[in-house]
Amino acid sequence: MEQMNRIKELSEELFPQMLDFCQRIVRIPSEPGKEESVAKVYLAELEALGYDKIFTDPWGNVSGIIEGTETGPAILYNGHMDAVPAGDPSLWEGGDPYSGEIKDSLMYEKELQREEKTRVLFGRGSADLKCGAASQIYAGAILLRLRKEGFPVKGRFITSQVVLEENGEMLGTLKLLDHYDEKKIQVNAMVSCEPSSLRIILGHRGRMELRVTVHGKSCHGSSPWLGVNAVTKAAKLILEIEKTVWSNGHADPDLGKSGIALTILEIEPCELCIVPNKCTMIYDRRLVPGETVESAIAEVQEVIDRLAAEDSDFKAEVGLNANLRRSFTGQGAWIESRKEVWKIDRENPFVQACARGIERVGSSVEYGYWAYSTDIPALSDRGIPVIGYSGAQEFCIHTTDEKVRLDYLKESLAGNAAIFLEAAELAESQFHG
Ligand SMILES: [Zn+2]
Repeated sequence: MEQMNRIKELSEELFPQMLDFCQRIVRIPSEPGKEESVAKVYLAELEALGYDKIFTDPWGNVSGIIEGTETGPAILYNGHMDAVPAGDPSLWEGGDPYSGEIKDSLMYEKELQREEKTRVLFGRGSADLKCGAASQIYAGAILLRLRKEGFPVKGRFITSQVVLEENGEMLGTLKLLDHYDEKKIQVNAMVSCEPSSLRIILGHRGRMELRVTVHGKSCHGSSPWLGVNAVTKAAKLILEIEKTVWSNGHADPDLGKSGIALTILEIEPCELCIVPNKCTMIYDRRLVPGETVESAIAEVQEVIDRLAAEDSDFKAEVGLNANLRRSFTGQGAWIESRKEVWKIDRENPFVQACARGIERVGSSVEYGYWAYSTDIPALSDRGIPVIGYSGAQEFCIHTTDEKVRLDYLKESLAGNAAIFLEAAELAESQFHG
């Protein structure tokens, strides 16, 4: 296919410019809710590259659209503009976490199956996931060049870079999709640029936060028998919940086992000489196929019911945790922390088209699954097929040595453009998650 050769040439040609863009966005800190400055740079880049439509929505998400020369499916390339905080800069091995410096560094190489010295771009947000986002946006630039040169380009290429991903509730992407619904912007499939080491990612576990509250009765600490200590009651419940979840043994051959971790414990009142009347536990709960948000809540409810039957002083309730999130635009909402499991079959026509695209630009096809969760369930819950694909590598994200291999980055630029051309060949009826 002549187009595929041209994609490879254009990825070579555009890569230096893309790298400059990577450096500019890595140099701007963009913690969740503080993406305003970096969003301006994304918008200006889409404008400079000549995207057909560029827009934001009330929550500050940035979108760009490229129309093909022929009708076809709409493929969304999605990433997030926020990055986790850098923490103490003195802990960063390479110096300033926002330097965006390009240098030699030891990095794992998948063919060699060991580390080697190679050129990397360094800094917070480089791997998770600004450089992946840049290779999506520049895949659009390749398509624009192909269109200009008279190659047929089917369908519609959409890039969206969202706010508030790192909080884990998918709020940015959910609001993006609401906006697309309102504007009647259809999405047939999605490519997420969370770090994948050039593999096609086919799934991750669900994630939810359980909020368990144990109620007691306050009294003076000198006479605890006059009250009910909520923490003492919670102690038993904590052990029983873990025992129950682990012994239920939920697991999946690809995604591994489900998980439960007590992460936050709040005691009220938390004062000397007062027996506390309330103890709240927040759990990080990971779900595998066969489990749902509702079934995970019911599992804890059963433990509560059992303990309440044995002890008339035991009172507790369980539900989903919700957090108040605000976007830099001033929008705010309480959002429940719930993501269902995402898993797509490798025989799915969209997955196969993505694999063909990658192969046609000379890359090898490998599949994998993520340990962490992403915004993807916002799409997969709607029956939209999604894959993960990026040249960034998972092992360094959220660390003080975050970096991206330049050679993988260039490979993913060509890969993203090729994926689009192949996926755009599919008929509308072939898209189902
Ligand atoms: Zn990420």
